[in-house]
Amino acid sequence: MTKENFSDWTKVIKTTTKPDKESGAINPPIQMSSTFEQRDFDHFGKWDYARSGNPTRDVLEDSIASLEHGTRGFAFATGMAAISTALLTLNQGDHVILTKNVYGGTFRLVTEVLVKYGIDYTFVDLGDEAELKAAFQDNTKVVYVETPSNPTLQVTDIRQVSALAHDHGALVFADNTFMTPVLQKPLDLGADLVIHSATKFLAGHSDLLAGLIVTKDEDLGNQVYFLQNAMGATLGVSDSWLLLRGIKTVAVRMEKESANTLELATWLESQDLVTKVNYPGLASDAGFAVQSSQAQSGGAVLSFDIGSEDNVRQLVEHLEIPIFSVSLGAVESIISYPPKMSHAEMNTEERHARGITDGLVRYSVGLEDIEDLKADLSQAFDKINNQQ
Ligand SMILES: *Cc1c(COP(=O)(O)O)cnc(C)c1O
Repeated sequence: MTKENFSDWTKVIKTTTKPDKESGAINPPIQMSSTFEQRDFDHFGKWDYARSGNPTRDVLEDSIASLEHGTRGFAFATGMAAISTALLTLNQGDHVILTKNVYGGTFRLVTEVLVKYGIDYTFVDLGDEAELKAAFQDNTKVVYVETPSNPTLQVTDIRQVSALAHDHGALVFADNTFMTPVLQKPLDLGADLVIHSATKFLAGHSDLLAGLIVTKDEDLGNQVYFLQNAMGATLGVSDSWLLLRGIKTVAVRMEKESANTLELATWLESQDLVTKVNYPGLASDAGFAVQSSQAQSGGAVLSFDIGSEDNVRQLVEHLEIPIFSVSLGAVESIISYPPKMSHAEMNTEERHARGITDGLVRYSVGLEDIEDLKADLSQAFDKINNQQ
């Protein structure tokens, strides 16, 4: 059995646990050094200046590359730094097609920053093949996928979009934050580059910000490496180490949190107050078939509608377990209200068109006991029902 054949459960341990050659310490050391001594005037060593690479970050970058079945991995200070770096492989005059359900920060980057450098864009419903086909231009270089999407959990068929993109000479970039490589491997499904906000599930404990990129082929890897070093938004050594620690438990967290989420979604469907549940792990969900064909589960985020902003306000006041906050993907459950948090900048019409209705709640399900999570929601729903 070779290292490549290990299952993800083994790989998350083996790729993050790299004994130090000097001391034998089983975890990679946090090398607090900005520069590395060159022992020979004519032959320089592997590392010179820590922005270009360092031993701690290297272990992390190799780990994520292995987990995503790619050739090269890259670590950045935030998810947005990773996304910016990936999209700056485009040149002036190029065009990118993005899912209309893209993360808000990516929307802002593309519409307010990249346009200044002559990079054009079109947002489409990637589930609509005709709309996607019509969006290709001669200068289209990238199709940008994010699946399942935030906060309505819409699923994009990565195989189908990749085949179409490649027919048109475009690459596919996939934001895999909601799934992690444990649940979904976009490169195996046809994508060329994978992005993570490692701030979420990969780190898993709401204790750091980080971004990752993995490339499928060497050439794209070289382009990303050049930009990582040139733009310099690299991840520091302490956060690299903490993220390695987080990744060690990502498989067990994703399995448990996905199971919790499916149970919660099923229960929510039976509640009178709930008018809609978005979760691609539910057989009744529009995205179920595609999700099941490309991912191991529906993941650990769902959203549901309880009719009105006032109901959501009461829900937030009455719930005792989830933290009311932005962000997701942690050991603790986190509840958020997209219309006033992640999607506050979108106008009402645009929000409603995307299914982000006034009664929508996003729930990132943590590792608490599922019976407690249900009981907590149940008592809050009872209080709202008694008000009405
Ligand atoms: C949070 C998030 C990002 C941005 O990552 P940061 O680490 O906050 O910069 C990008 N994509 C998705 C899907 C996210 O959830």
